[in-house]
Amino acid sequence: MPLQIAIVGSGPAGCFIAELLSRKVEDCRIDIIERLPSLFGLVRAGVAPDHQGTKNVIRQFERTLEKDNIRVLANLNLGTDIRYDELKSCYDLVVIATGASDDRKLGIPGEDTEGVYGSSHFVGWYNGHPASHKNPPELKGPSVAIIGHGNVALDIARLLAKSPNERAETDICAPAMYQLDNSGITDIYLIGRGTPEQSKFTPPELGELKTLSTAVPIISDTLIPEFPSPDLDPREARAKQMNLDLFREYSENGDKAERSKDKTRIHLLFNHSPVEICSEEGRITSLKLQKDFNQSDSKISLPINTLITAIGYRSREIDAIPFDALQGRIQHQDGLIEPGVYATGWCRRGPNGVIPTNRADALEISKRILADIDAGSFTTGKVGQAAMDRLISEKKLNVVSYQDWKKIDQAEQDRAEGNKPREKFLTEAEMLQQTLA
Ligand code: NAP
Repeated sequence: MPLQIAIVGSGPAGCFIAELLSRKVEDCRIDIIERLPSLFGLVRAGVAPDHQGTKNVIRQFERTLEKDNIRVLANLNLGTDIRYDELKSCYDLVVIATGASDDRKLGIPGEDTEGVYGSSHFVGWYNGHPASHKNPPELKGPSVAIIGHGNVALDIARLLAKSPNERAETDICAPAMYQLDNSGITDIYLIGRGTPEQSKFTPPELGELKTLSTAVPIISDTLIPEFPSPDLDPREARAKQMNLDLFREYSENGDKAERSKDKTRIHLLFNHSPVEICSEEGRITSLKLQKDFNQSDSKISLPINTLITAIGYRSREIDAIPFDALQGRIQHQDGLIEPGVYATGWCRRGPNGVIPTNRADALEISKRILADIDAGSFTTGKVGQAAMDRLISEKKLNVVSYQDWKKIDQAEQDRAEGNKPREKFLTEAEMLQQTLA
């Protein structure tokens, strides 16, 4: 009797674990459950739309989803369409791979003001995520602040600073493209609370800022150290050194920025913590920052028209699955939630690392699962796919299969204009319409 497996989430974490289990568990049937009608999680809705090469991993995921022992059940939301106990009653083994889709909060006054957006919402918006389009941001210039010195902040700054020509080959969805091209942004503040050495940027992404045709990165009031601290491991030291060299280069750009008034200025600010968001008529007007948090008298106020926080994510709580509210992720012990139920990816380890990090994570979890199968650590013999099909039919759920998704995928590519790789559908209803063709 095949082992009946459900994997919840079709992002990198879900696809990597599906690939491993489909090969390593001798006889199994896998259902991949996804809440949206579209697939691939953050590869579709998080990876920067001007980094199309990063999305090539989708080909590898497609090969996995096309395997005979794997099915896709998309447009099916665990927690609302089906309950956790119903899921467990169908499958022998469940793997939760639902990522981290909610924004962390700054926790300062004024955060709920209009014009202040979390990066998950903002990135989801230009990447065409239906949830962001239910309440789209209103992007206004001339001054935009981004809080956080990680790669998500860099992605956002770069896309805001690019020229319409540079953005034309991305798959930024049409309404966001219109706003980006017409926002009148002249100044972008990239604000970090730590020192240059503490920033979490990676050198290739930081270096991209100097390749933009109509923007210039500037550092004005921070002395950049020549070398990173000596106690780092060699790999980290190399990356930090590259960052410091780039920062030093950017700190020499003051004059260049002065001479090229037609360019968007990207100001990198270090050692600045946000303390208050001020507004007029409900919309943000300025951001108060405190320099060097311990010096209480060194506050500054920046006039700001739009603010984006890029300070990390939290997993979304799913009804009845134990949740660690402090950490913002699923409660587990080395990936085990309860016998027969496991977590992998960002919902297990938190929102860090790049796409391949989720493969390493999946490898670790798959080893644990295989050992638990051998040890008989959970009960087997459940009905599996037939029981799930019965539930879907009883609840009259409109489930999207892999073949349905391919129709949506093709329709998005067919309707793209110019050099755009695709024009995404922005609502679930539009996506479902394509599956009827
Ligand atoms: P991140 O790398 O963890 O950066 C978060 C930033 O927010 C840090 O600078 C952090 O400062 C700051 N922060 C957190 N809380 C704050 C607060 N209350 N006030 C002010 N600043 C605060 O997270 P991320 O940028 O969201 O990226 C998530 C993961 O995806 C990372 O591993 C990233 O490398 C990866 N990613 C990779 C790429 C790529 O490879 N191209 C692109 C996007 C994302 P502290 O350091 O002081 O905590």
